[in-house]
Amino acid sequence: MPDHPYQVMKKDTVLNVGFDDTDSPKGMCTTFLAYKIVDLLHKQKTEFLDFPRLVRFNPNIPWKTRGNGAVSFKIKTKNPPKIKNQIKNLVTKHSDTENGANPGLVFFESDAIPKEFTQFSKLALWQLINRNIAKKFAKKNNLEIHYQGNGQGLIGAIGAIGYDFDDHTLELLSYRKKPKFGKERKISIQSVKDMQEKTFPDTFNSFDTKKGRVLITPHGPDPVFYGVRGENADSLIHATEILQTTEKLDGYMIFKSNQGTGDHLKNELNSDSMKPYASGKLSGIVSSNPKILKGGHVFFKVSSNDHEFWCAVYKPTGMTAVASNLLKGDKIKIGGGVRKASKNFPRMINLEFLDVVSLVTNTTLSNPECKRCGKKMKSKGLNQGFQCIRCGKKAPKKTRIKISRNIKKQLYLPGMSAHRHLTRPLQRIGTVNDSTQFDQSLSWFCVYRN
Ligand code: ATP
Repeated sequence: MPDHPYQVMKKDTVLNVGFDDTDSPKGMCTTFLAYKIVDLLHKQKTEFLDFPRLVRFNPNIPWKTRGNGAVSFKIKTKNPPKIKNQIKNLVTKHSDTENGANPGLVFFESDAIPKEFTQFSKLALWQLINRNIAKKFAKKNNLEIHYQGNGQGLIGAIGAIGYDFDDHTLELLSYRKKPKFGKERKISIQSVKDMQEKTFPDTFNSFDTKKGRVLITPHGPDPVFYGVRGENADSLIHATEILQTTEKLDGYMIFKSNQGTGDHLKNELNSDSMKPYASGKLSGIVSSNPKILKGGHVFFKVSSNDHEFWCAVYKPTGMTAVASNLLKGDKIKIGGGVRKASKNFPRMINLEFLDVVSLVTNTTLSNPECKRCGKKMKSKGLNQGFQCIRCGKKAPKKTRIKISRNIKKQLYLPGMSAHRHLTRPLQRIGTVNDSTQFDQSLSWFCVYRN
């Protein structure tokens, strides 16, 4: 006899699963673990209620492996204990704890996600969060948590469940077969160019035409072969049909993501929130003319709400030529990550965008122009005025002339190769993708049968 009448009814439970920090620079990838888990659940005919979610958090935290991504998914199950056990086993088996991973796994049984989760997730996008705060959060909200190491992974795991998408993109990640892990990725460069030409802007950041660089293949030993980012599942699947490789891949999975949304830069930075490793934006007035230092990096100050903030524009962003043309008095909006003070530099914002709102007029003193001949006059010596060498006309002093500015009132972004996962590309500015319909047919998940 069952102890309780409900035990025989086998209700459907909605289960949210979040996990993070399973990988290390030496191997593995949290999204691959998600692919393995989905494969197992799919074989058991588990019902998925949405795409798996790949949520990127604050890109400035120092201990991230690559792009500070965490994964979550939402399923319906009649047997939560069995599913949880299977997932726990897979997380333990596939986490690279020997090389420094601190995996965190969170289970939350509920269809609705309380607003506390969303708030936690929003903070993790731009602040540095102490792992004890994540542990306290889990206790207060009755979350089932599992972790190894120091439990740092709990932050991403909770945040991925709590993330509320206003805008989103999708990423199709294709995975290699195990014997190929760590080996060179061979993909036809021409096919990547063709794919971009045929599918842009429904796919983005695949090939940097300026640098001639393929951007969809990672370079480390992780199991990802390529990742194509875009706006809808059909375009991503179409992209895989154009891409050409001789390598036999294992399969792919499409994630819903906040990549390309610029979400980490929505918070306003001010003197209180400008803590080391924070991300955000501010509006202000350039208060010191830019200095170009060794290596070509550009530094200047911005004044905002009675505070001065140091800004750095680094050479690899490709924005140094623009930044070096700023002048004291220009009105700008900037966004980026806060670098902590070092021996040689104060705390400063590493720029991830520069939006020029208004430009001061630049002038200089110049020898006067002869009104009769249109020629520049010559100086007659110290304090002796100027004279036209052609007609002899005289003028007492220099005149002020306008110099055109080599910078425009517009938004400047880093070059495509220097984009972070969260950077909102130019063609996404002003757009919101909130239309993706989740497809129960599982076309978002595929294991190749070869
Ligand atoms: P990959 O992109 O390959 O999945 P990663 O760059 O996501 O790797 P992780 O190994 O997952 O790197 O490490 C990121 C760690 O930082 C995780 O433990 C995550 O929980 C934690 N974390 C995420 N956001 C914050 C934050 N705002 N403050 C503090 N820790 C955070």
